[in-house]
Amino acid sequence: MRDNADELLLDVRDLSVAYESGGGLVTAVDRVSFTLRPGEILGLAGESGCGKSTIALALPRLLRSPAVITGGQVVFDGTDLLGVDDTAIRAVRWRDIALVFQNAMNALNPVLRLSAQLVDVIRHHDKVSAEQARERAGELLDLVGIGRDRLRAYPHQLSGGMRQRAAIAIALALRPRLVILDEPTTALDVVVQREILDELKGLQGELGFAVLFVSHDLELLAEFTDRIAIMYAGRLVEAAPSLPLLDGAAHPYTRGLLAAAPDLHGRRSVSRTALPGTPPDLSAPPPGCRFAERCEKAMDVCRWDEPPLLPLNGADPTHVTACHLYSQDSQEVHA
Ligand code: SF4
Repeated sequence: MRDNADELLLDVRDLSVAYESGGGLVTAVDRVSFTLRPGEILGLAGESGCGKSTIALALPRLLRSPAVITGGQVVFDGTDLLGVDDTAIRAVRWRDIALVFQNAMNALNPVLRLSAQLVDVIRHHDKVSAEQARERAGELLDLVGIGRDRLRAYPHQLSGGMRQRAAIAIALALRPRLVILDEPTTALDVVVQREILDELKGLQGELGFAVLFVSHDLELLAEFTDRIAIMYAGRLVEAAPSLPLLDGAAHPYTRGLLAAAPDLHGRRSVSRTALPGTPPDLSAPPPGCRFAERCEKAMDVCRWDEPPLLPLNGADPTHVTACHLYSQDSQEVHA
C-alpha cells in the first residue's frame, strides 16, 4: 500500500543501516519502508535489538559511528534527507523533526537552568529577542504541565516525570511537524507514564504534529497510535491500523508479542506465553523468514524464501504482513 506521495509528510523507502563490526558490516535495519501522513501517529514496535531505535536516530541523521546508513531514502516533505548537506540537515532537526528519548537527561544539560536551555533552542533557530524567547519558554512549560514557575530550576531539582516533560517542551519549542518518541516513558512509573502520554496526545491534537512512537509495549501503542508497524530482526513484518492489529494480528511474531504481553483491558483471552527462542544473529541472518526458527507454523518454504510484505486481504490494503501463510499473487507493498 502506498499513499499519494503529495499527502505524505515522511516516506521512508528501503532504509538500511549497518554497524561496522570486526572489519565487516552487520545490517541492523534491512530495507525498511513506511510512510507517515501529516498529523498521523505511527507506532514502531518489536523486541530489543530489532532496529526500531536505530530507525528513530537514522531519520534525522543522528546516528554516530560505528552505525552507517547503507541504503534507501528518507523523504521528508518531498526532500530526501539522506541527500542533503550537513547545514541543511541541521536546519531540519528540531525545527521540523524533534526527538524525545527514553532518558530525559540525554536531552537536558544538567548544569543549565531550564530557562537557559529552552531559550538557547528557541534563539538558535528563531530570530527573537531574549525576552520573547523567555516568554515562549514559559508558555512551553505551562503547555507540558510543569508550569512557568519552574523556569529557573535545574534538571536535578525536578522529578523524573518533570524532566521528561521538560524534554518534551524542548522538543516542541520550534513547533516541529514530526516528533519522534523513542520509548519516552519507559523509565517512569505507570501513573506518570499515563499522565504524560495523555498530555502528549492532547498536545498532538492541538498542535497537529505527526508522531513516530517507538516502543516495545504494544498495548500502549494501540491506545496512543493510529497505526502500528512491527519490526523483527531488522525487517518490517506487519503493519496495520492499531486496534485491528491488536484484535486481528496475522504474523506469528506479532501474535507471539501480543500473547507475551499482559492484556490490561481484558480484550484478549489468550493467556500470557513467553516467545520461545531468540532473534537470529544479524551478522549472518538466515536466507528465508528470519522468524522461522521460533515459528510454530514454519514450513519448508519459510527456510529458503524470504516472504515479501503483502496486503493481508486484497480488500484491505492497510493491513500488510510478510508471512508465507498469507502469500498471494500481488506486488510487495510499502507500509
Ligand atoms: Fe512463520 Fe513461515 Fe510466516 Fe515466517 S513465513 S512467520 S516462518 S509461517
